[in-house]
Amino acid sequence: MHQFSYFSANLYDCGGRKIVAGPNKTVLLLAEAIRKVRWGQGLRLPRPRSVPSNLHTHRSNGSKMTPTELMQLAIEKCREGIAAGQSPFGCAIECGGRVIACSHNTVVATTDITAHAEVNALREACHAIGNIFLDGAVVATTCEPCPMCMAALHWARVGTVYYGATIADADDAGFNELSLPAAELLRIGGSTLELVPELMQPECKQLFAEWKANPRRTVY
Ligand SMILES: [Zn+2]
Repeated sequence: MHQFSYFSANLYDCGGRKIVAGPNKTVLLLAEAIRKVRWGQGLRLPRPRSVPSNLHTHRSNGSKMTPTELMQLAIEKCREGIAAGQSPFGCAIECGGRVIACSHNTVVATTDITAHAEVNALREACHAIGNIFLDGAVVATTCEPCPMCMAALHWARVGTVYYGATIADADDAGFNELSLPAAELLRIGGSTLELVPELMQPECKQLFAEWKANPRRTVY
């Protein structure tokens, strides 16, 4: 009879209470996790959606957008989010000469702590082209990506990320940021992604001030 190490695993709920009384329940939970993985393996990728018509794809003369124009889209989307009571972050993604995603943070609206602007935009972009990889994509985000978003952008293999305000600006606004600069995360992790800091930084930083005008804002 083997003694499996996971028999000693302990699981806790979000209040810190231990929720596993013994090995049997641990095994059941692991079996459920394995079942979920197998179920996931059987999933088909969703069919690509057409790019939403409200997104600008090119400038009027047909040429690709500049990083500044892409950032302007992210800023406008961020303001939509602020008006809807969301946090002051926006992100736009261009791939293959088309803007394929533009999203704002929806953490509060969706009670999803991972629903940062970059994650939302990545989901929208990957869904739009039916591919988990966005090779060569250009991303403009109003604030320096947090470690979670920076890692997600790396996973998606985007080419270049422009950001406006800094993690320090978000920290000053009250957000519980990890004090790990995006460039440092890329360096430690050996990512080849190109990161371009502080594009339209004053305009992006101003978004925090606009958001602070809402007394019912949520900080996390
Ligand atoms: Zn983030």
